Amino acid sequence: MSDKPLYVTEPHLPPLEEFLPSLREVWDSKFLTNGGPMHQKFERALCEYLGVEQIALFSNGTLALLTALQALRITGEVITTPYSFVATAHSLLWNGIKPVFVDVDPVNLNLDPAKIEAAITPQTTAIMPVHCYGHPCDVAAIEKIADRYNLKVIYDAAHSFGVESDGQSVLNFGDMSVLSFHATKVFNTFEGGAIVCKDAKTKLRIDQLKNFGFVDETTVVAPGINGKMSEFNAALGLVQLQHIGEALRRRGEIDARYRALLADIPGIECLPPSPGSKHNYSYFPVLVKPEYGITRDELYAAMRTKNIYARRYFYPLISSFPMYRALPSAAAANLPVAHHAAEQVLCLPIFPSLTESDQQRVIDVIRSLGR
Ligand SMILES: *Cc1c(COP(=O)(O)O)cnc(C)c1O
Repeated sequence: MSDKPLYVTEPHLPPLEEFLPSLREVWDSKFLTNGGPMHQKFERALCEYLGVEQIALFSNGTLALLTALQALRITGEVITTPYSFVATAHSLLWNGIKPVFVDVDPVNLNLDPAKIEAAITPQTTAIMPVHCYGHPCDVAAIEKIADRYNLKVIYDAAHSFGVESDGQSVLNFGDMSVLSFHATKVFNTFEGGAIVCKDAKTKLRIDQLKNFGFVDETTVVAPGINGKMSEFNAALGLVQLQHIGEALRRRGEIDARYRALLADIPGIECLPPSPGSKHNYSYFPVLVKPEYGITRDELYAAMRTKNIYARRYFYPLISSFPMYRALPSAAAANLPVAHHAAEQVLCLPIFPSLTESDQQRVIDVIRSLGR
């Protein structure tokens, strides 16, 4: 049997031949960036596919997060989750905002709405939750709190391309949602990202902020950044969009097969699907419980010796990194559920080109190492 390295994800690429005509179009047009024709076409195509009103493309998700906070003029303190990729909290520090970590829900590992109110102070201006692994947050509960305390809500939706909750895009909740099109994500443009917002006026402000704050040739209204997506990435995105349906379908099959074949292994617990949601199967996290027999880290290391590179997303927690750990809200006692999950979680390989035999290799190794 093959023993080739198996990574947690493998970038999903269109056939190169399909990309060549749009590359030629970019070359011929001589528009390479600055909101050229591909950029505009890709924005419209994404709005239609995702079922959202307005979208502004970025060169990556992190710059989109930074700009979303700037566009909404967020200051002071922002409530966020420690259980995410580090860019979530970094976007706050880059804006001079103090992150306030709140613990996560033990079932979906998203920001726990029941714990948000206790963390609100007079300095709080916004909530930045993450739809972790593409599982929708409790958007209704978060909206209720935001309305009561007059807070903005910016969702880090980097995992949630194509996810729906109760029949509509999860990107339509909150004031803004931020996507990442990084190579490792469900939908990629090599590097890329976007902000989803609700009206043309807000999109205009975002478009100015991603272009240094220029509003016309000679007027600069804010210390904006260079966050523009290039024509190359936009052209690639348009081709990728032709294949996303098939990619999500294939991911769904892999997800279902893991659930069926891991079900009888004691101590291996799959995250339950969220009720009422259309998932994108962006990750396949399992929790390694004591009944499994060996720890998560032992399983992680043993899988590596078999050339299977599962990942401990999200360990360490953001709140454990040196630039955050001195914050009062970063104390382990404040975040027991997140700490517990970070010790037990392991994300298994899931990507459209994962073969049935490679998936079986993963399942067999997990089965052989347990009690
Ligand atoms: C990937 C990711 C980001 C950053 O996106 P980039 O496009 O890589 O800058 C932010 N937040 C979360 C939760 C992510 O997974």
